[in-house]
Amino acid sequence: MDNNFEDYGNRIIVRDSNIHGMGIFTTSDIPKNSLIMIISGEVISGDECERREEEENNVYIFWNGDNYIDTSKTDKIKYINHKCDFNCDVIERDEESLYLTAYRDIKKGEELTIDYGYDEIYEYCNCTLCK
Ligand SMILES: [Zn+2]
Repeated sequence: MDNNFEDYGNRIIVRDSNIHGMGIFTTSDIPKNSLIMIISGEVISGDECERREEEENNVYIFWNGDNYIDTSKTDKIKYINHKCDFNCDVIERDEESLYLTAYRDIKKGEELTIDYGYDEIYEYCNCTLCK
């Protein structure tokens, strides 16, 4: 399953986003269901996750069903933005990581987005569906 996705990872770039701050963008077309990159980082406990979110405003923590994964020291995935009309999905890989996959066909130059999936985000969301 890990075979051909690294090509995509290398074609993901970070630049200014219309959604919020910086975002990640693809420099090539990505067909639906492709594995785009592995999401990994520092594995932390639920308590530590809560502490980092509250005390450090850390918004880069993923949950994979087993563990909390702090991606704040990564160079790309931490910049992925929320959009209700998202084009990427996050699926389980193993206890310490996740896959970022293409939810639909994604065109060269598009920003990669996911549904953050927590209620508060929709209040602040600027996407066309929320406006
Ligand atoms: Zn929205």
